[in-house]
Amino acid sequence: MSGRPDAGVAPIACDDATIEGALESANVPALLMSLIHLTGDTTILRGSIRPPKVVGRGAESGLSAQDKAAVRARAFEALRAYRDRGGTLPEPPGPQTIAAMMAFVVGEPVPEAYVPMMQEEMALDGRDARGESWEGIAPGARQGLRVLVIGAGMSGLLAAIRLQEHGVPYDVVEKNDAVGGTWSENTYPGCRVDVPNHFYCYSFAPNPDWSRYYSRQPELQAYFEDCANRFGVRPRIRFGCEVVSAQWNEEHAQWQVRLRSADGVETCASYRAIVSAVGQLNRPKIPDVAGLPSFRGPAFHSARWDPTIDLRGKRVAVIGTGASALQLVPEVAKVASRLFVLQRSPAWMSPNPRYHRRVPEGQKWLLRHVPFYARWYRFLLFWPASDGLMPSLIVDPDWPHPQRSVNERNEEARLALTGYLEAQVGDDPELFAKVVPDYPPFVKRMLQDDGRWLGALRQEHVDLVTEAIERIEPDGVVVEGRGRLDVDVIVFATGFHANRFLWPMEIVGREGRVLRDVWGDEPTAYLGITVPGFPNLFCLYGPGTNLAHAGSIIFHSECQVRYVMGCLKVMLERGGTAMECRAEVANEYDRRHLEATRRTVWAHPGARSWYKNQAGRVTTVSPWRLVDYWRWTRRPDPADFTFG
Ligand code: NAP
Repeated sequence: MSGRPDAGVAPIACDDATIEGALESANVPALLMSLIHLTGDTTILRGSIRPPKVVGRGAESGLSAQDKAAVRARAFEALRAYRDRGGTLPEPPGPQTIAAMMAFVVGEPVPEAYVPMMQEEMALDGRDARGESWEGIAPGARQGLRVLVIGAGMSGLLAAIRLQEHGVPYDVVEKNDAVGGTWSENTYPGCRVDVPNHFYCYSFAPNPDWSRYYSRQPELQAYFEDCANRFGVRPRIRFGCEVVSAQWNEEHAQWQVRLRSADGVETCASYRAIVSAVGQLNRPKIPDVAGLPSFRGPAFHSARWDPTIDLRGKRVAVIGTGASALQLVPEVAKVASRLFVLQRSPAWMSPNPRYHRRVPEGQKWLLRHVPFYARWYRFLLFWPASDGLMPSLIVDPDWPHPQRSVNERNEEARLALTGYLEAQVGDDPELFAKVVPDYPPFVKRMLQDDGRWLGALRQEHVDLVTEAIERIEPDGVVVEGRGRLDVDVIVFATGFHANRFLWPMEIVGREGRVLRDVWGDEPTAYLGITVPGFPNLFCLYGPGTNLAHAGSIIFHSECQVRYVMGCLKVMLERGGTAMECRAEVANEYDRRHLEATRRTVWAHPGARSWYKNQAGRVTTVSPWRLVDYWRWTRRPDPADFTFG
């Protein structure tokens, strides 16, 4: 019993009944993996209890009740023994055993290329492997770097945490008065994450206490607030402060930045490097509907929810049926006297029974106390969401029904998703016809649902309106062929200016080039991070990096921040003050990005989405396998840059 204990768990100091009770809520495959850590018994991997292929996120994967009971009984004994011997563990499994455990627990081969990526994600050795080592970089050299991070959302906080860890002087400016980015801005009723929370959190800051599998906005906001405090970055954040412009000064190799605080006062500051962490989905897009200014009542965007407006007993129009509408409509339906949901195109949604479920207390206890359980649970959530969906997204040029699906697997998904809608509203042919999309699944973001959406639309006082909006009048919304829908309040759940990266900041690089003009409607960056002509400027969640097929955006940000820290390190190692991505490298990357996205369902002409620009090019989404992007961003290749 000399192995390294799981430093992430709390000691067990409770009675047997508590352990036994908690085990009732266990994810049994994750528990089986913990058993190996607890007992050192690797014969489990050759035993008769084998989790079948994992489908769905962290599902129980079809083990029989008898097998589950057997695993729980064994875990009970093992946990008691672990408690009674004071929390020591046997020697940890070696790398080969870990790789075998991965394949065993998900019931399918885990290709070699994925093993190190997943090991890093799970941090089984307790090491924060995505935190780049800066050994050998003198403190004086670090001090010479001064970095500005724009935005204190999920990725800006991450950058700040890493800069702080490496002793690099930095400031963070945040236009809002709180950290959290999207999670501080979106306060509409029903707002919650739609990626499983136990892996929608930093890999180095897991949270065993999520109250729900998909937590609500206040809990996410609290998580990011807590991280800002815990990692000591809050004092470096200047709230209520926006970057107006940044201009590269060649002589001093610095960005000269103009900042504006909430009271309108402008100041200037210089930084060696800028990390833009401004997000993609935070500049609300309100359509230019004729007559909107004449509307007498409140009219606001979903991301600018006004809590002082009481919707109880009001007649409300919600315009849009995307991810935001899907969450807020069922909540508004609970209080409004009349609700019109104005749909331009229906959305595909995937059944997810856990979407609103609470995490049982027993499960929380296991996540907190059982060695390596939380880490394997994270793996079980991550694995089915890493690249497996890709084949259903690639267009088969010979597919005979390109309007409804793009290949055989995509068609299978279409049938299953249509079946889900039919099971709910098949008895109402008119509604059913309205809610089945006429474009292939995954053209737009797949929504998560547990029946609340159609449940809300079926209510007597709720009306799904598919006629086009003609204009807005003082007392309502006029739709084609139907006349005016009288309403007191209009909510625009109409999305964001996703394709206007870094907008509305004015970024002026070498030779006076303005980033907005360089990009036009086709923003692009090498790895989504760096742009030729704009030295020492690094984007997080930049062009072409949104994940529409896999993973969580936190995983992607961790890859990007590691790459950025690697860039800064390389610059210091070379004693340089500026680095710029070579144009030919960026152009070649852009060519590959275009070629790859062109073949995907996201480029399908059958529907609009924020994934595409006006010309139909996919500009916001990453077409890469997670494992490829992870590999490319592990460390920068100095040959991709020129240094000054
Ligand atoms: P969105 O997906 O862009 O949806 C906008 C909706 O507004 C669409 O239904 C669109 O119809 C409609 N619309 C836009 N302009 C219109 C017009 N002139 N007339 C009528 N309808 C119009 O925006 P969103 O729902 O805010 O979501 C944006 C993204 O934010 C999501 O895809 C997701 O990535 C993220 N998000 C995530 C969560 C979460 O994690 N829980 C929640 C909310 C949002 P068309 O489809 O016809 O264009």
